[in-house]
Amino acid sequence: MNIVLLGPPGSGKGTQARLIQERYNLALIGTGDILREEIKKGSSLGREIKDIMEEGRYPSDDIILAIFEKRLKGLKEKGTILDGVPRTLNQAKKVDEIFARLGRKLDAVIHLAVNDEELVKRLSHRFLCRTCGTPYTNEFSTKIEGVCDKCSGREFIRRLDDEPDAIKTRLEVYNEQTKPLLGYYSATNRLTVVDGMKPVKDVTAQIESLLGKLQVLTSNSGCLYSAQDI
Ligand SMILES: [Zn+2]
Repeated sequence: MNIVLLGPPGSGKGTQARLIQERYNLALIGTGDILREEIKKGSSLGREIKDIMEEGRYPSDDIILAIFEKRLKGLKEKGTILDGVPRTLNQAKKVDEIFARLGRKLDAVIHLAVNDEELVKRLSHRFLCRTCGTPYTNEFSTKIEGVCDKCSGREFIRRLDDEPDAIKTRLEVYNEQTKPLLGYYSATNRLTVVDGMKPVKDVTAQIESLLGKLQVLTSNSGCLYSAQDI
């Protein structure tokens, strides 16, 4: 089972990706992580990425896709959950090609839908643990609701982010880049929109219900999926 999780900044995508990864024993592939891993390895590609990022630029689609393919090739887990890639329509098409080359298939794309007003609200109010200062995107993003993951503190303070314009720009960029992606996945019958306005556990339940159906489907259709893919 290979899935992509799409969602704007503040949608709780990172939290959901972690929960789903654990529940289904999938490899979580995030762009930031694979870039950092490649730099750490000190490969020629890693050194190139390091130079680009030190100049404050972002690696090209070709570079991101090359390390994505490398990571996917070395995969021990049977399935993956992608977070942060693909980000553009071009990347989405290339990711399908990579999966096909490696005898895999992207089964489902989950879009966490949260309206912009709510996102601005979430992003501009960051919760910090009063005891240890660990930041949380909202009051539901701790593993146990209302309890700090690190120190088990139960008191949180809010900090008003002073750059609402920066938040607006991030959301505009996301909306602009993601719309064509949603169209592409919808046209190939792989898109499911999940209501990301609900509390974390309800969002997780919606995703699990979808993935449960997908597992039944994939295990019943041997002609379409090999056993290794499930
Ligand atoms: Zn704490």
